[in-house]
Parts: sequence; C-alpha cells; structure tokens
Amino acid sequence: SSAASDVYKRQRLYTAAAPSLPDFYNAAVDGLEAKEGIGSCGTAAATGQPVIAEDVFCHPYWTPYLNIVRRVGFRACWSLPFKNRHGDVLGTFAIYYDRVRRPKREEMELIQEFAHLAALAVEQTAADLRLRQAKAVFDYASEGILVTDLKAKIVAVNRAFCEITGYTEAEALGKNPRFLQSGHHDRAFYLNMWRRLLATGYWQGEVWNRRKNGEIYPQLLTISTVRDTSGQPTHYVALMNDLSQIKQSQERLDHLIHYDLLTGLPNRLLLQLGLRQMLERAQRHNRRVAALLLDLDRFNLINDSLNHNAGDELLTAFTTRLKQHLRGEDFFGRLAGDEFLLVVDELPHSEAAGRIAEHVLAALKPPFTVAGQEIHLSASIGISLYPDDSTSDAELIQHAETAMRQAKQEERGSYRFYTPTLSDRARRRLTLEARLRQAIKRQHFVLHYQPIIELHSLRILGCEALLRWQDPEQGLIAPDRFIPLAEETGLILPLGEWVLAAACQAARTWRESGYALEVMAVNLSARQFQQLTLPEIIASTLAQIGLPPSCLKLEITESMVMEYGEQAIDRLLRLKSLGIKLSLDDFGTGYSSLAYLKSFPLDEFKIDRSFVRDLPHNSSDVKIISTIIHMGQTLGLGVVAEGVETAVQHVFLSHLGCNAGQGYFYSPPLPEDEFCRFFSQSAGRIHPASERREQTGK
Ligand code: C2E
Ligand code: CA
Ligand code: CA
Repeated sequence: SSAASDVYKRQRLYTAAAPSLPDFYNAAVDGLEAKEGIGSCGTAAATGQPVIAEDVFCHPYWTPYLNIVRRVGFRACWSLPFKNRHGDVLGTFAIYYDRVRRPKREEMELIQEFAHLAALAVEQTAADLRLRQAKAVFDYASEGILVTDLKAKIVAVNRAFCEITGYTEAEALGKNPRFLQSGHHDRAFYLNMWRRLLATGYWQGEVWNRRKNGEIYPQLLTISTVRDTSGQPTHYVALMNDLSQIKQSQERLDHLIHYDLLTGLPNRLLLQLGLRQMLERAQRHNRRVAALLLDLDRFNLINDSLNHNAGDELLTAFTTRLKQHLRGEDFFGRLAGDEFLLVVDELPHSEAAGRIAEHVLAALKPPFTVAGQEIHLSASIGISLYPDDSTSDAELIQHAETAMRQAKQEERGSYRFYTPTLSDRARRRLTLEARLRQAIKRQHFVLHYQPIIELHSLRILGCEALLRWQDPEQGLIAPDRFIPLAEETGLILPLGEWVLAAACQAARTWRESGYALEVMAVNLSARQFQQLTLPEIIASTLAQIGLPPSCLKLEITESMVMEYGEQAIDRLLRLKSLGIKLSLDDFGTGYSSLAYLKSFPLDEFKIDRSFVRDLPHNSSDVKIISTIIHMGQTLGLGVVAEGVETAVQHVFLSHLGCNAGQGYFYSPPLPEDEFCRFFSQSAGRIHPASERREQTGK
C-alpha cells in the first residue's frame, strides 16, 4: 500500500507527498483538474465526497487512465477530501492498493483521521505564507504601522514608524502610544476616538503628533481592530500617513482660496461655508441668525477721485475700523469689491439685527484719513434673517442684497430688512429707545397710585405705585409700551431706582401728613431682581428718605421667581432680611407648586387680573381663585385680588375669604395730588365708585 496527499489549489491538485508511488506517476497526476470523473482524487476534490474505487479497472472515473494504472500496477484507490473549518476542500488524501479491495469501517475512520491531520498541516503552511507576506508589507510599507495589545501597549512597530516619529523600535515597544501626542487635541477627542473604535472596530481621522525632535506634524491615522478566529479582538493596528508635506501646500492653497488678499478677511467662498455651518448650528439650537450685507456708498466715485492705491487703503482702513466694533463671535468677510457680509448668531429677536446695523453705521461716522485726505464713508445695509426669510445660505445672501438695494434707493447710509415690516418695527423701536434715554435723563416720568382696599372693612391699606411716562408731545404713555424695551436695554435699572425713590418719598410725605397708609407697593422688574446690589440700593434709599422698611412692599412676578429657580429663594431671603414685605404679583399664571412656594419668604399673593375678569361666571376661574385663597390661608399669607371692576366681583371675593382688592371698582390709579384728595375725602375708608355715582346722582 502507499499513501499520497494532494494539495488542492485553484481547482487543481498538486502532489504534496507520495513516497511509495513512482515518480512518473506523481508527475503525471501533478496539476490534475479537480473535476468529477477525473479519477478518485479529482472527483473527491470536486464533490467534497469520498470516492472509493475498489477496482479501478471497472470504475468509470478511471477509464481514461487505465494505461498508466497498469504501468504502476495498482487496483484499488480510495480518496478522501479534507477541508478547512469553513468546509472548503483543501486537498485529498488517497490510499492505493495492489489488489481489489474496499475499506473496513475501522480503516475508513483511520483514513479520515489522517485526512484531518493533513488539513491542519496544509492550513498551517498557508498561514505561514500569509504571515511572511504580511511581514513584508509591514516591514516595507511607506505608512508607519504600530500594533498594540488590547491594553494599548505597543507590541510591534515598523521601519516607517521609526522614520516618521524618530523613535527606535526599542524606544517604542511596551509603551502606550500616548507618548506620541502633541497636546493639540483635548481629552474629548481621544475619548471619542476610543468610543468609536470600541463600538465599530475602526477609526480614521487627522491627528497631530509630536516627533522625537519636538516637531509637531499632522497625520492621517487609521486604526483597526484585529480579531481572532472566534471574532474576539486581540490587537489594534494603527496606520499612520504623514501629512505634513501635503498639509503645508494645502494650507497655503486654503488661504488663497478662502481669504481675501487685500483685507485678509474671509472671502465669498469662506463666507458661504461659514454661514452654512452657522445655520446648521442655529437649526440644532433653535437660534436666529442675521446676515447683514454692507455696501459702501459711492465707493467708485471716491475710488476714482483718489489714486488706485488709496482706494485699497480706504478698504483696509474700513475693515480695521469695523473689526474693532464687532464681537469675537461675529463672522465678517468681503464678498466682492466694496461689498461685505456680517453674520450674527444668537439674536434674541429679529429687530436686534437693526440695532447692530445702527451700530455699524455709527462706527463709520468719524471720517477716514487716507493719503492725507479726510474721507467720509457711509454704507447701506441689507438684513435677512434665518429662519424667517430663508433657511438656505445662498438665498439669505441674495435676500440681504435685495434689502441693501432697497436701502440704497430710499436712503443711503441706512439699513433695511428683507421683510419690510421689520424695518418699520426696528425703526420704531430704535426711536423709542432714543426717546426713552432722553426721558430718563430729563426725568419725564410720574407715578400714579392705586389704592389697595381691605375687603371686609373697605379701609385703604396702601397703594401700588404705577409708572407713567409723561411725554411732552404724546402725553402719558402706559408702562406696557416701554417697560419691555427698558428691560431689554438695561434702562430699567436707572428707571427702577427712580421709581423706588419717588414712591418711598411719597409714602414718607403721606405718613408725615398723618395718612394711615400701611404700605407702598412698588413693582420690580426681572432685571432689577437679578441685580446683585439691589438689597443695598433699597436699604440706602430707605435710609436716605427715612421710611421704615416695613412700609415698603416689593411686587415680584411669579414668572421672575420661577425662572430664577433655586437661587430665587436666596435672593428673596436677602430682600426679606431688610425688613420689607414681598408680594408675588400676577399669581396664578406661573404654575408654581404649593410645595415650592412654601420655601419662599413671601407676605402675600396677588391674584392675576385675568382670573378676576370673568368672575363669578367663569367656573374654572372661581375654582382657581378659591384654591389660591385657600393656599394663602394655609401658608399664612395675605391674598390681594387685582382688577376688581364690579360690585359683584367685590362681594364674591370677600365671600371667598380674599383679604384685599385693587381695581377700578374702588379707584383707578391716581396722580399724587388726586390720590391725596381721595384719601383725605374718604378718611381712609373708601366709598366704591358705584356708591359715589349714586351720591353725585342725588
Ligand atoms: P401690574 O403690576 O399687574 O399692575 C396692575 C395694572 O392693572 C396696572 O396697569 C393698572 O392700571 C391696571 N389696573 C388696575 N385696576 C384695574 C382694573 O380694575 N381693570 C383693569 N383692566 N386693569 C386695572 P398699568 O399701570 O398700565 O401697569 C401695567 C404693568 O406695568 C403693571 O402690571 C406692571 O407689571 C408694570 N409696571 C407698572 N409700573 C411699573 C414700575 O414702576 N416698574 C416695573 N418694573 N413695572 C411696572
Ligand atoms: Ca403689580
Ligand atoms: Ca399684577
């Protein structure tokens, strides 16, 4: 008997070992096709099934080969295919006999065992080959390669790695690749890299590393996870492409492509890219962005009247001037010639863009000096808004341009919104702001006082000071029309201080005149509430005027307190420690919970007007009011109802147990002298409007 083993390669069989068979036979079957009908081995390799030819002389697969069979002199050939773990045929294992014979069961098992061993041997050989090839790639690759174990300890580096980093293999082995870091990336960057690597088995990105000589260089880093046959990770392989050469030329190119040569500002291309990014961010954070397109007025005329260099000089001077007036986060660049684009992020509301335009125009007012000449420069500005006018970057620029042309046509040196109504609104707002500033300077304000009545006795407990703007032309202006703007511009702070002082002054005067007024209520704005020095301001005002703190009550709205969260308690406690009273104004509109309110040092709730208006017909309002009154009683606080307009409301509220009321039913807010008259005539106890009407009717 003799044994032969054939290596199956590319659908052909090559003799691997067949010591007992003659060379001429081995040579003849070397490279035999793996195909059904080609002897026992060819067929076994092709079908993956054992082929047992007991007698080759009468086996159909052997018919073509009988000549050579006779020369060798065998009669039986059993061939078994062997496979790798995926079931691919690697080769066949064949047994030859010189007589007709079929295998016994034990023999078959033994042969199968041999076939299995042969498979292992063949696989090992193939793996060795692959390894040798891999080693060659590893050694001679132009990319630096670094292999680490799962704990990120370096276990192998290649020649290119040593060339790129400047470290020898010995210096690198056993270390964590961290020693290559340049400090250019933060912790989050590496965390992110690891997170991705662990999740997907792969990471690619640009990384700045440091060479041994200290030089920092960019590289394209690709990290992959190596897994064993069962899919478990065993190593990480990092491939590094040195980008420093490419990078340098790319940066030069980038700058040329993205920046304007004359001014050094971003050019149209970069502006568009930047704008697009800002829009994406704005969309994510639900923010508003404004694009302001500035076009210099009559620049061509100016340019022609100067020599050419002076025109360039003027543009540079303009750029420098504007940059001084912009915030760091504003994005400013040159679109073309004398056209510039300013992109502003995080606008609180649309009209705020008008304020910025105004600011830019004001910055251009002082003349420029170019080539020894004074030059007055103005610009027309068009404004478009994201998302109001468009969500596309190109369209926003287009719309801003349209608006700019409009400005040019109507009034050079001004600005227009793409949406015309916004231009009007912004203009009105700005005029109002300017007038408000003037009014504060000239103290064009008065306080009106509205009595607060104890419901069961109809006694005047005190009053609320309500601010009015006394405009020489427009007469009295209601607070709702200017307080929001005063808040926004910060003008409320000086205004609020004036209100406080004026109200305290009035309260003291009345006390001295013998009016039994318990308390003067003053409204506080959100901005004042946030002001850290507020307690000091109040304390010094009270001390200067000589009003006992218990005579002052601050009305703070529920929403102000809620917005301020936990800090509100601290603020309220500081105010409370001055000895003044605190009232929660507009109560019922802010959804505060009883549990929350319990921790606040309050003296009273002031039920919002909106709940009183439809009393007693609106049953849900009735429910809300009874709840608030009940809450107040539970917490030991007073409850004041605002906006009491009818006798029915008055009676109804007193029945519900409400302590005090305020509203047109008792008296509207009155100027100081009228309030005094009202108080002394009524002797501190009011006669409601209806009664008074009856009296006068007599
Ligand atoms: P508020 O604190 O809720 O003031 C009550 C408002 O209701 C006053 O309007 C008052 O005139 C009005 N009112 C009084 N009785 C009735 C009534 O029976 N029916 C109706 N429909 N309304 C009545 P006013 O004076 O126009 O003030 C409006 C708001 O302006 C005030 O609401 C307050 O939030 C704010 N405000 C007024 N003065 C000041 C101030 O000095 N500083 C601050 N920060 N805000 C002020
Ligand atoms: Ca109030
Ligand atoms: Ca109120």
